[in-house]
Amino acid sequence: MIRALDFLSLFFLVFPIIFAERSFHPRDSAERQSKTEVQVRPIVTPRSAQRYLWKYGWIEPVLWESRPSHGKPTPTVENVIQSDRTNQEHLENTPFDSEFPTDIGLTLNPRFSGALHRFQEANKLVVTGKLDAATMKAMNVPRCGVPDRKVPEGEETQPEDHEENGSTIPSNLNESEEDSRDTHQESTEDVQERGQTLSLPAKRLVRRKRSQLLKAGAKTTAFSKHTLKWRLLGEGYSVWLSKEQQRYILRLAFRMWSEVVPLNFEEDLFSPAHLIDIKLGFGTRRHLGCSQLFDDMGREFAHAWQLGDIHFNDDEHFVPPNSEHGISLLKVAVHEIGHVLGLSHMNLLGSVMQPNYIPVNEKMELDLNDRMAIQKIYGKCSGRFNTVFDWVHQEPDDLGRQVSHYNTYFFRRSWYWRYENSSNRTWYGYPQELKVGWEGIPHADIDAFLHFWTKKKRFTFFFKGKLYWRYDDLNDKTYRQDPEGHIYPRLISDGFPGISGPIDTVFYDQRDHNIYFFHGRNVTAFGMESQKVVPGYPKAIEDLFPAAKSGDHPKGNLDSVYFSFSHKAIFFIKGSYVWNVATSDDLPYNSLLPHRLINEQWKDICDVHPSMLSMPRR
Ligand SMILES: [Zn+2]
Ligand SMILES: [Zn+2]
Repeated sequence: MIRALDFLSLFFLVFPIIFAERSFHPRDSAERQSKTEVQVRPIVTPRSAQRYLWKYGWIEPVLWESRPSHGKPTPTVENVIQSDRTNQEHLENTPFDSEFPTDIGLTLNPRFSGALHRFQEANKLVVTGKLDAATMKAMNVPRCGVPDRKVPEGEETQPEDHEENGSTIPSNLNESEEDSRDTHQESTEDVQERGQTLSLPAKRLVRRKRSQLLKAGAKTTAFSKHTLKWRLLGEGYSVWLSKEQQRYILRLAFRMWSEVVPLNFEEDLFSPAHLIDIKLGFGTRRHLGCSQLFDDMGREFAHAWQLGDIHFNDDEHFVPPNSEHGISLLKVAVHEIGHVLGLSHMNLLGSVMQPNYIPVNEKMELDLNDRMAIQKIYGKCSGRFNTVFDWVHQEPDDLGRQVSHYNTYFFRRSWYWRYENSSNRTWYGYPQELKVGWEGIPHADIDAFLHFWTKKKRFTFFFKGKLYWRYDDLNDKTYRQDPEGHIYPRLISDGFPGISGPIDTVFYDQRDHNIYFFHGRNVTAFGMESQKVVPGYPKAIEDLFPAAKSGDHPKGNLDSVYFSFSHKAIFFIKGSYVWNVATSDDLPYNSLLPHRLINEQWKDICDVHPSMLSMPRR
């Protein structure tokens, strides 16, 4: 008896050629070392290093989330506690641009040293607790303005409305006098939102919405709805890229998160500002009515608030993906959106949530750590599929030999995903629209796919309703008329006498060369050679494919029966569950093993908002 494990070897007999799953290409492949476009004061003194450590939470966690993204600018180092004053004053007395003193390790108080220690450890530097050259180098890399260590949500005790409260904590590390004057001017200005003035009550509404969210406990660290509206502010375009480029890149950045969690992002250009969940804008220094400045110390490319807004520092030279120089807006936007969704910095190689900008990174994609972190907050994607299959197609290799490839596809309504079995995730940039990727088949709700192959013949068919289409694998489109002269679409009952549509799914069993059509609770075997229904059929699915564990069976109305080349196994798929056909001789033939969740077998097959579906294939 031939079992499923033998499928692959049989397949090799039929296609004795190189046969492999095709691997993906990176979405954003050619980023290179950036050039400095703006003059910034490098961090070369203990004073500036201490400012850095304070600002980003290395001395103690920063009250970041309660700082308003709109409103009066607040000191950048507001959580300095009294015990630090002495040291601070000492540092203040050090000329900012003075030469780096060689005995610096001796002049620092223990808190500074401890902060340096933590910073060095997190950045995988030699831990000296001293301001050495490697540490200063790490501090001078372009970075995100969100502190590395924040006071956790719910533990913040800041007043809810900074604007009305109006209190600022005096700090010797505050901005220059000129900046202080700007502060007062700024606080009287109304915030412009896409050409319309947002009145004070509306501003309060925005803030109240956020503070209410933040007050509601643990769940406030995440959006509670699945579709989020975003807008690039009209007064906040970048000077480096066209408006369309900026919006396109932001759309792509949102889409990358959509591809791994059940969240949709919709660009909304028209709703009132308070209905927009995520507002994005570009600005320099004092910008967009923000409480935080982009100063000229270090190179801060952006900052963002959990469940809030994103500001990009337009003093950085933002560039599209694949640019040789500059800062990739895509990379920065993906990072900042991560903050808005609730992620903090992660000092992990390959993570998009690293605080520093790393120019050379061929795979600008969410890595496993990013995916796990965001799924911890928002859960995994799930959903029903119309059909699942491996598509085998041939392409000439470098030597002109015909090489067979297969890829796994999941169809849902009008979308499809290409799946990478070797890395257990979808290809980047999926889903795509059926009408874009599969020429000639109906644009939605395909019932079934069939790949039939023998040594002599090979067919690929799609089924919907009472009709079916033959697919020309070589030319990647349906036949209007196939080499045998049949016109498509064709009635199922014409091509498969005795079978009438619609069908739920169909499956070619290489073991007995029969095609099995599933409909309702029944299955019908069809012989391709005889062109007839096999005598004795239809039969109950449950009789032909018995449950290995009593009661654990999909019964009928299957979504798909799918033979996977990667897993060398047959899967029955229905709703959110999957059952494997057993290959063990210890169980009755064709037994269905107990069900599992589809999203445990195939990971991160996520919907994206329809407005993002038309983005080109990569
Ligand atoms: Zn960040
Ligand atoms: Zn800002």
